[in-house]
Amino acid sequence: MNTVWMNQLAWPDYEARVQREQPVIFLPVGALEQHGPHLPLGTDAMLATAVAADAAAQVGGLVAPALSYGYKSQPKCGGGQNFCGTTSVDAATLIGSVRDAVREFARHGVTKLVFVNGHYENQWFLIEGIDLGLRDLGPQAKLQVVRLEYWDFLTEQTLASVFPAGFPGFALEHAAVIETSLMLYYHPTLVRQDLIPGDPPADFPPYDVYPTKRHWVPISGVLSSARGATADKGQRMATEVTKRMAEAVRHEFG
Ligand code: ZN
Ligand code: MN
Repeated sequence: MNTVWMNQLAWPDYEARVQREQPVIFLPVGALEQHGPHLPLGTDAMLATAVAADAAAQVGGLVAPALSYGYKSQPKCGGGQNFCGTTSVDAATLIGSVRDAVREFARHGVTKLVFVNGHYENQWFLIEGIDLGLRDLGPQAKLQVVRLEYWDFLTEQTLASVFPAGFPGFALEHAAVIETSLMLYYHPTLVRQDLIPGDPPADFPPYDVYPTKRHWVPISGVLSSARGATADKGQRMATEVTKRMAEAVRHEFG
């Protein structure tokens, strides 16, 4: 079986592949989080999974099922927790899931593991989970881990061509041009282009307040408009991101 999907393999086939090929295992991490009226709640896990699958195909790797619940949505990068449908976990839960995954893949004999993050808020808890997992395994362990945010693989030239009027920054790119374009490329039937809001970019003060204030966030939940999104932009970004992810993985794992 030449599939990239780990969960479609029977265990003896998976075991044989791990022992024979030492494949890179990609573990996408996402969130279940509002993405405006035009994108599905599962966008972050879907996109992390999609780019992981394309990168895995280029390096003969496997994609494990995504960790699909992320750390709590923040107003300035995901709209916050005040939306129906956004379903988040405590930091300790995410850290524990990542730590468990590190230990389990090491037990399988996996030596190359890549966490592909698709939800901004997850970053430091992935770092902590990986650190604790590797500490559990001890210094003799053969497992090496790469962690990445897939959008960091976009070059400045590509961002300039996708955002002719100027790039608003990744934090405000929630349910906006990058995610909407990638969804138009990977999952076009799940995008409601007729419902894309035209709100101007959100304007946040340089501090946070708790409890968070719903009125800081545009009603739609979109932090900058997705009006410029196209499937062609999505394809160009996906091609660049997955090619450069594959190069990074080859470079680190040899
Ligand atoms: Zn997102
Ligand atoms: Mn998110």
